[in-house]
Amino acid sequence: MQKHPEFAEHAEVTPAARIATASHGWRAKCLQRLIRLDLPVPRTVALPFAAVRAIAAGHRPDAAAILAAFGPGPLVSIRPSPENPDWGGPGTMLNIGLNDERHRQLAETHGQAAADALYLRFVQAYAIHVARLDPDMFDGTEPSAEALRAALRAYEQETDEPFPQDPALQLTQALRSMARAWEGTTARLLRQAKGAPADAGLGLIVQAMALGMGLGVSGSGVIQFVDPVTGTRQITGRYLSQSLGRDALDKGPDTLYLTRDPRGPSLEEHAPGLFADLLRYGAACRSRLREEMQIEFTIENGALSVLDAVRVPRSSRAGLKVAVALAEDGVIGRDEAVLRVEPRALSELLHPQVDPRGGRDVLVTGIAASPGAAVGRITFSSAGAQASAARGEPCILVRRETAPEDIRGMHAAAGVLTERGGMTSHAAVIARGLGLPCVVGAAGLRFDPRDRCLIAHDGRKFREGDIITLDGTAGAVLAGEAAMLAPALDGDFRKLLSWADEFRDIGVRANADTPADAETARDFSAEGIGLCRTEHMFFETDRLIVMREMIFAGSATDRAAALDRLLPMQRADFIHLFDIMAGRPVCIRLFDPPLHEFLPHTREGLRELAEALDRPLSEITRRAEALAEFNPMLGMRGVRLGVVLPEIYEMQARAIFEATIAVGRRGVIVVPEIMIPLVSAVREVELIKTRIDSIAAQVRTKRGADFAYRLGVMVETPRAALRAGDIAQHVAFLSFGTNDLTQMTYGLSRDDAGRFMSAYVSQGVFPEDPFHMLDVDGVGELLLIGAERGRGARPDLTLSICGEHGGNPESIAFCRRAGFDYVSCSPYRVPLARLAAAHLALRDRLGDTAKETS
Ligand code: PEP
Ligand code: MG
Repeated sequence: MQKHPEFAEHAEVTPAARIATASHGWRAKCLQRLIRLDLPVPRTVALPFAAVRAIAAGHRPDAAAILAAFGPGPLVSIRPSPENPDWGGPGTMLNIGLNDERHRQLAETHGQAAADALYLRFVQAYAIHVARLDPDMFDGTEPSAEALRAALRAYEQETDEPFPQDPALQLTQALRSMARAWEGTTARLLRQAKGAPADAGLGLIVQAMALGMGLGVSGSGVIQFVDPVTGTRQITGRYLSQSLGRDALDKGPDTLYLTRDPRGPSLEEHAPGLFADLLRYGAACRSRLREEMQIEFTIENGALSVLDAVRVPRSSRAGLKVAVALAEDGVIGRDEAVLRVEPRALSELLHPQVDPRGGRDVLVTGIAASPGAAVGRITFSSAGAQASAARGEPCILVRRETAPEDIRGMHAAAGVLTERGGMTSHAAVIARGLGLPCVVGAAGLRFDPRDRCLIAHDGRKFREGDIITLDGTAGAVLAGEAAMLAPALDGDFRKLLSWADEFRDIGVRANADTPADAETARDFSAEGIGLCRTEHMFFETDRLIVMREMIFAGSATDRAAALDRLLPMQRADFIHLFDIMAGRPVCIRLFDPPLHEFLPHTREGLRELAEALDRPLSEITRRAEALAEFNPMLGMRGVRLGVVLPEIYEMQARAIFEATIAVGRRGVIVVPEIMIPLVSAVREVELIKTRIDSIAAQVRTKRGADFAYRLGVMVETPRAALRAGDIAQHVAFLSFGTNDLTQMTYGLSRDDAGRFMSAYVSQGVFPEDPFHMLDVDGVGELLLIGAERGRGARPDLTLSICGEHGGNPESIAFCRRAGFDYVSCSPYRVPLARLAAAHLALRDRLGDTAKETS
């Protein structure tokens, strides 16, 4: 069978004509489908890509043969028909064939004024788009007999020829100009930016004009059957009545409502039969073209014509609603509904968004660190944010960068903006966890903390209390209050995701540190917690102090006292998490506190700590200086803390096991997973494992209860990936922490890279921010090596990814191909990950089906 025949000749579009999207474009194919549905499409001829290419190259089209299909005195339009509607194409040309003779006839049938207006518009369009004359000479004239004469005169003066009277000549020139416009550099670049291949073809559609004006009921309009923004089933569109009958002659065109409306007359009342036909056509398109279509129509003396039908342009939320409705009505399958919704589009539904229909006064752009949008008053301190929240006033917390002290403020704020930082800096990670819109690395904004103001590029100053809008989806800060769209976490959203789960074949867990995160994760149907960063459980002010006491303890006795206070807190936290997750797996990472995140940064913080520890300020300051590291991300972090100060991890293991027993007694059976962070040597694992096993034995004996647990390692240093074979012999799972792994593979600070990342990306050094998009070539190779060596040593090893990349469709595809068991990502990215994973499985299935049938 011939697959995509490229017919060099034009063809009339009939039900049986050989028309294909790949050779004639989407519009030609769509019109053929409408004709097959018996819709009243005016006579149409389609020129395939090959013919249009030949015309652009200088070949003369057989215009007379094309026009022969339209009978004597033809009037036609030409529309573009690229393979994909998003690839644009030259503008439609109307009324080709209009000349002095036809103008006279139209004056008789439709009245002088209407005929003059039509001819004038045609002369103007032809002069500008076909003869390429100066638009200033032709644009914007109000129609009148004099204006028409002037336009014809201007045309003749400029070209030294009278306005062409031969319809075949007009058609030839118009086809040539449209074919050449498609080949132009700007058009080419524009469509390539939308994914068109360099050799994308253009088809052209020549269609009999259906004027939409006449003595009886006449007019033109567009009708849609769903709301493009919300997706709700309702009729929208417009209708312009152009009835030239005695009553309407003087009034000119009239806008009518489509459906009955108390504000004025409607097409539904004016022409109920035609209105009912339109509804029928909409329903036919929906069920047979399996899509919500927008129909462009004209009515001439009571006769309805369908000129074109396109997929209703729609927002993400409308797209989801339409897909679910089509599947529920049995028009498409659930698998197709799932595939019709882009995973990335979901984040638009999870959070409030800036309404795309409103204006945008962009002050600065930065890194889109956490999606959603918020309007609020600027506040420069966490205390200010909390005070705002207490007054019930939304605020945007603006900081140079955030630290654990800011957690309270972040909780209280509607959005977070930082001057510094990248995709995995403190503000970004926490904001994503909280589902808070966040823009980081907004380096174009001058932040003057002393004067408490922000200064935009254009010099505008914004002070504390001024209102801004933070667009975390686009990574932009807007002046003032932008119009917003509310989230759409409705039944359709949940339904589509539950269908996605039927198809997906890789697990999706959530990174959740607190009970609130865990509840969000459970609400989004995460299959478990893939990473609980236990140090984040101590970011709250009252707890931070206990954590600091532990870190600052100068002696084993002091540390033991601090650990005694931490143990019950940890135990209660774990009980809470286990209860929320109700038996689903929970992977708890032992402490990994980069010291710079936990040392007080201000004199106030140092004083508070001195008070809490009942020590002189000078001693605390000295100790803080002694603990300070030049390179804290590569310092006393993760397992290093566990090796040097074993009692810390011992306390955590005890808390986990005691919590396991406590919930077990209530019937919640948990097999906790304990994960060791920042491992680089197998000996680290051996040491920690021995101690944890011994704590497990102690707790079993002391409590007289048994339990199981699984030990794992977080692979986030390149060496751990390379030595995964040795490490796997001691553990049940490996989880790749791609934030640190990216940082260490590139030697790129995750907290500082934001400063130069955009320069690096814009100059093509990195194709993308590697903290955002997994670097499959380098970091990805380490993942593959780690997975292969780990599974080689232990075939039943569980493999996962828990860095921020875990929620990206591209990383999910990579991990799925590498045979990973699950991905873990911020709770708010769980829906996206579930849908992306389903897409991958479905596409594989479709690929297999295609292979089988070829
Ligand atoms: C990682 O490094 O990828 C990770 C998940 O841990 P964190 O972001 O807490 O360092
Ligand atoms: Mg890490």
